[in-house]
Amino acid sequence: MGLPPSSRLPRVTRSLIAAILVLPVAFSGCFGIGETEGGPGDWGREFLSDSDYTRLIVEIDHEQGAAPADEALAGLRTNIESFLRKPGGVEIRTPTSEVPNKGQGAKWSFAQIRSAEDSIRDETKDGKTAVLYIMYVNGGSSEDSDSGRVLGAAYSGSSIVMFKDNIRSVQNQCFNLLPLGCPSPGTIEKAVLIHELGHILGLVNNGIPMVEPHEDPDHSHHSDNPDSVMYWKVDTGSVIDLIRGRGLPTEFDANDKADMRAAGGK
Ligand SMILES: [Zn+2]
Repeated sequence: MGLPPSSRLPRVTRSLIAAILVLPVAFSGCFGIGETEGGPGDWGREFLSDSDYTRLIVEIDHEQGAAPADEALAGLRTNIESFLRKPGGVEIRTPTSEVPNKGQGAKWSFAQIRSAEDSIRDETKDGKTAVLYIMYVNGGSSEDSDSGRVLGAAYSGSSIVMFKDNIRSVQNQCFNLLPLGCPSPGTIEKAVLIHELGHILGLVNNGIPMVEPHEDPDHSHHSDNPDSVMYWKVDTGSVIDLIRGRGLPTEFDANDKADMRAAGGK
C-alpha cells in the first residue's frame, strides 16, 4: 500500500494519503511510520542481496498468548532461505514474550506499536548483519473497520506487526462457513506473514522494480494475481473471499520471484 515511488511527497504524507484513499474500502495494512528506518520496501535490495548484508537475524517478540504458529514460522524460514541471498546464514531467534500485555480485544495504534518496538527490540542492523523485526500482539489494529480488519502490516523498512485476534477471527469465520474446507490453523497466519515479508522485500513495485508489470492498478504495491500471496486481500479480513473462492495463496508467484531475483535475491 502506498503511492508510486516516483511521488515527490514525503513518505509520511504519501502514506497518510494512501491510508485515506484506501480506508473506506478496506485497509491493506501496509504503510510505513518509522521514518528513522524508512518505509516498507526501502531496504528490499539490502534484504534480498548479499552486496551489503551477508547475514540475517530475525527477532520476534510476542505478547503473552500471541506466540507465532509453528507453521507460520516454518513458512517464513522457507521463503527467506529460498529468496534471500545470505551466505553468512539466517538466524530466526526463538520468539520471546516481551511485548507489553494489552490482552485480547485491545486495539493497537501504530504509534503504540512503534513505541513498544523501541522499548523491546534488541537487534538492529550492524556490520554485515541485517535484522528483520516481527511483533505479534493479541489484539487488532486501531485502523480496523467494519469493512476491513488488518491481519498484519509492514510498518517500517524492517518491521512487521501481526494481529492475532484478527487472524483468529478469520479462522473462526472460516470454520463456521466451511467446516471441512478451511486451511489448517496457522495457514492463514503463514500467508499473512509471507505477504508482509514481501512488502519488506519491496514487492510489488514498492522498493524493487517490476521485471514484468504485475501491480494491481486498484491496490498499489500489491499483485494483480489473486493466486499470488501478494494479492491485496491476503492481509485483510477480505481474505475470507479468497478462501471461499479460488483458495488461499501462500506463495509468491513467478512475477514476484522474478522481481526478487532481479534485485539481487535468489
Ligand atoms: Zn499488503
